[in-house]
Amino acid sequence: MDQAAALYIVPTPIGNFADMSSRAIEVLNQVSLIACEDTRHSGRLLSHYGIETRKTALHDHNERDRAQWIVEQLQSGQSVALISDAGTPLISDPGYHLVKHVRDAGHKVIPLPGPCAAITALSASGLPSDRFSFEGFLPAKEKGRIDKLTALKEDPRTLIFYESPHRIVHSLTSIVAALGADRQIVMAREVTKTFETFLSGTAEDVLAMVTADENQQKGEIVIMCHGFAQADDEAIPKVAIDTLTLLAGELPLKKAAAIAAQIHGFKKNALYKIGLELGL
Ligand code: SAM
Repeated sequence: MDQAAALYIVPTPIGNFADMSSRAIEVLNQVSLIACEDTRHSGRLLSHYGIETRKTALHDHNERDRAQWIVEQLQSGQSVALISDAGTPLISDPGYHLVKHVRDAGHKVIPLPGPCAAITALSASGLPSDRFSFEGFLPAKEKGRIDKLTALKEDPRTLIFYESPHRIVHSLTSIVAALGADRQIVMAREVTKTFETFLSGTAEDVLAMVTADENQQKGEIVIMCHGFAQADDEAIPKVAIDTLTLLAGELPLKKAAAIAAQIHGFKKNALYKIGLELGL
């Protein structure tokens, strides 16, 4: 472990205690203080690993006040670790103001990699993972939800939302309304726990499955939506392809596609692409 006093950002398991890394245990044992979102909640995990480090509460309501006090601990040479109730601190959890304050005060912030529900769920979803947008929790009120989803409707990236069980049906209903009944989605529930479930299908299908089965309305949930997919180019009718074929027998493909496009009122690139596919 680094010798200089630093703030360590330490992810903790999202349901399965065995997902605690050995480095996380080492850091939590060695720091002088652990800032916990909820000291009682984290107490169970810490005592499971025999960690007896002093704890202090750092949550949404006291984070700004606590940040200065934590900087003072660092100034006096004491390292501090930040943990949240589960997963990676700062990801829909407290910590942003603390990290900013600590960095602004010139102290080191050292992150540990570890569990995060969004990334864990995405990795097994079967949805594109090359580009994604983590959107946290959807607004609780319907209008806010619909407005937010409508603003994301044409985003080509996979969209990731956190959701609570008592709002899941409302949120899926809003997804159907705003993104469309046909949007492919995956709902990951209780990831890393006994009742881990992945439901996938169109938004309408998943809403029907969740509405029909109350068990699907329990536990912790990540919803992932396929990004907006551009509709395929307009279907090109056979008559336009016949024209293209005829012209391509006499002219270079580019010219043939341009003329056929003009005659039939389609994009020349679309006809050129078809020409290539047909080997004209
Ligand atoms: N910081 C955490 C992380 O890194 O994932 C997220 C904290 S946020 C307050 C809690 C939300 O994360 C839950 O409401 C749920 O949407 C999601 N979540 C946490 N654990 C989960 C799990 N085991 N399975 C599915 N979703 C989970």
